[in-house]
Amino acid sequence: MSFEVVWFKRDLRVHDHAPLAKAAAFGPVIPLYIIEPSLLSGADYDPCHWTFAHRSLLALRESLAHLGQPLVVRQGECVDVLKSLHRTHPIVRLWSHEETGNGLTYARDRAVAKWARAENIEWREAPNGGVVRRLKSRDGWSRIWESRMTEAQSTPPALPKTEIEIGHLPAGPELGLVSDHRAMAQPGGETAAQDLLDSFLSGRGHGYHRAMSSPVTAFDGCSRLSPHLAYGTISTRQVVSRLRETISQTEAPGIRRALRAFDARLHWRDHFMQKLEDEPAIEFHNFVRGFDGLRESDHSEERFAAWAEGRTGYPMVDACMRCLHQTGWLNFRMRAMLMSFAAYDLWLHWRPAGLHLARLFVDYEPGIHWSQSQMQSGTTGMNTLRIYSPAKQQQDHDPEFAFIHRWIPELRENSGKYPPPIVDHAEAVKEARGRIAEFRRRRAVREEVQAVTEKHGSRKRAPRYRTGRRKPDQPILFEAEPGFSDAS
Ligand SMILES: Cc1cc2nc3c(=O)[nH]c(=O)nc-3n(C[C@H](O)[C@H](O)[C@H](O)COP(=O)(O)OP(=O)(O)OC[C@H]3O[C@@H](n4cnc5c(N)ncnc54)[C@H](O)[C@@H]3O)c2cc1C
Repeated sequence: MSFEVVWFKRDLRVHDHAPLAKAAAFGPVIPLYIIEPSLLSGADYDPCHWTFAHRSLLALRESLAHLGQPLVVRQGECVDVLKSLHRTHPIVRLWSHEETGNGLTYARDRAVAKWARAENIEWREAPNGGVVRRLKSRDGWSRIWESRMTEAQSTPPALPKTEIEIGHLPAGPELGLVSDHRAMAQPGGETAAQDLLDSFLSGRGHGYHRAMSSPVTAFDGCSRLSPHLAYGTISTRQVVSRLRETISQTEAPGIRRALRAFDARLHWRDHFMQKLEDEPAIEFHNFVRGFDGLRESDHSEERFAAWAEGRTGYPMVDACMRCLHQTGWLNFRMRAMLMSFAAYDLWLHWRPAGLHLARLFVDYEPGIHWSQSQMQSGTTGMNTLRIYSPAKQQQDHDPEFAFIHRWIPELRENSGKYPPPIVDHAEAVKEARGRIAEFRRRRAVREEVQAVTEKHGSRKRAPRYRTGRRKPDQPILFEAEPGFSDAS
């Protein structure tokens, strides 16, 4: 007897899972998840990621059991696991979603492809959301995205039970992961994702565009779907489809506006992930290599530790970092401020700062994460510098100090224990601007920026900023956050 193996990666659901539905039409299916030691020990990995994945996998195992064949779990490097499975349960075809992951998963996929070719096993991969593999040009990308989002969704198939040993699904400590300290992190699983989407569309999201910027309102007013999208307990297509159905049934212009703003964010998700898909090296190198040397030799462990532990003496920055340590989540604007503070005020390179945030974000998604980390550090060249003033963020988004006092008790209690500012924001920003301007004036950098923009930039026209019109020689602003001014 031979088998169709459906390899679950970051697509931990049974609904809208094309590989599962298609494989079942061919023959008996082994639904497989592989716990890979090399990924668990990666520099961007944190026990909180396993906590979320573990819960999602438990739910997936149950859903698959209802379909007839529970999830099979194995530990080891993928090629080794597949080899040994193939010996006992001959594999005819391997099925999965395409993955836009980190350097480790990229290398692993190449090794699996090589092994499958050598064994004459066909590996069929389905597209992941709107990300296009082997994309030739960004022209027309949005059209492809739209058509992907409106494709019919596959339904979960019945699975004949096989006699295979399903294997133990270990909790973090059993894998040698130190216990996860993010006490307030979100739970995983397909049902949790659907519940979040329901509550967002039926009420929480009705003021989305007003609630998203402030950490006081964003925890409730944003969808909070990010870890679910990252682990695939829900697909972007499922979200877009339910969202558009709701928009079409909504009469209130304010709610429609809010939900349309959300629709745009889902588009951005794949827009950013496409960058890493097209150029995996941006996980490690500057988008524009002409910026190499900008910060590399200036790392200060002392400044890094103060930022990473939330003791820079800038309350808004520290409150965000401390909140992240407990909850594993922050809204976009506060993430951007944290990265901007690391990059401009503390002159830290985006790579160590980005790794630190990757470990703190339960929703760590390499494609969004590395593109955004570089964008907020000024190394994409495509955007005007967006440097956040922590004081202005506090005035605009936490005027009553509710968020700050919640996360920094020393300030609430006025205990005198809170540290003084680690740097002078105005001075640091002035110096950062000067250093970056010096690089941007270089002819080689300007030429490279043009090429990077052509390859990765959105084809949408940039919005006009409150600070004025775009100058003719200024690069077009791509992926601009609507309503964001240059220095915010
Ligand atoms: C430095 C930095 C690092 C980031 N790293 C990640 C990451 O690792 N994983 C991650 O999911 N998001 C990341 N983001 C983007 C964004 O902050 C989160 O997607 C968002 O806060 C998640 O919360 P939500 O699901 O409630 O978002 P909502 O506002 O409800 O949006 C819904 C979904 O749209 C997508 N989305 C929203 N905003 C953006 C954006 N600016 N760029 C791309 N996609 C977006 C996400 O998939 C999100 O889940 C990062 C942003 C910055 C500035």
